Amino acid sequence: MSSRKKDFSTNTLIKEIIDAANTMWNRGWAERNAGNISCLLDNKTVKNHFSDVKKKNKTDLVIPVPDLSDKAFLVSASGSYFKNYNKAPASYLGVIRIADNGKNFSILWGFEDGNKPTSEINAHLLSHAERLKSDPEHRFVIHTHATDLIAMSAVHELDDISFTRTLWLMHTECITICPEGIGVLPIMVPGTQELALKTAEKMSKYRAVIWPFHGILGTGRNIDETI
Ligand code: 13P
Ligand code: ZN
Repeated sequence: MSSRKKDFSTNTLIKEIIDAANTMWNRGWAERNAGNISCLLDNKTVKNHFSDVKKKNKTDLVIPVPDLSDKAFLVSASGSYFKNYNKAPASYLGVIRIADNGKNFSILWGFEDGNKPTSEINAHLLSHAERLKSDPEHRFVIHTHATDLIAMSAVHELDDISFTRTLWLMHTECITICPEGIGVLPIMVPGTQELALKTAEKMSKYRAVIWPFHGILGTGRNIDETI
């Protein structure tokens, strides 16, 4: 028996993501297509909106994610502008489901006009897999070009402990929101497998990772906690 599914465009998560993207744009953290967002969908949302029919539109993942098999994610489109999400959410956002072997994904909703998931999809998926090991309630990964942190990365030693210490000393709230500290990678090329793998290594310990001269990848249980 087939049950009628609700249109995902009406899900409140879309509005939440549009609002968060606008906030980052207004903070000056999202020039042009800078930044990307992904969110793990809970089982209820998947059940309400999508059928179990296996889709044929499979895209191979360069780094398989067996730990995320059958999970669905709302993901921003590569080349999309944070400030424009409200104009065409079904074009600039999409939902993907990871295959049960973790080797590919199919598109369940969105990515209209030929759009594709963010070029940082591997960093997002590997970060989700890593954070879920530490926190079963983890849901969001957000990458943004946070200007002050980019500037700080240009003048600071690029090392987890000293970068964390400076942040903790600069603003007393930093120790409250990041008690475990913050991960810092060397300068790396955006969108690469290497960047994704090194980011995931740091995510086993930290909820946020600095990409020097580029930006930050933050994670959290909800969108407010993440940005
Ligand atoms: P995408 O447009 O592919 O999401 O890339 C933006 C970005 O910030 C790359 O690091
Ligand atoms: Zn970026």
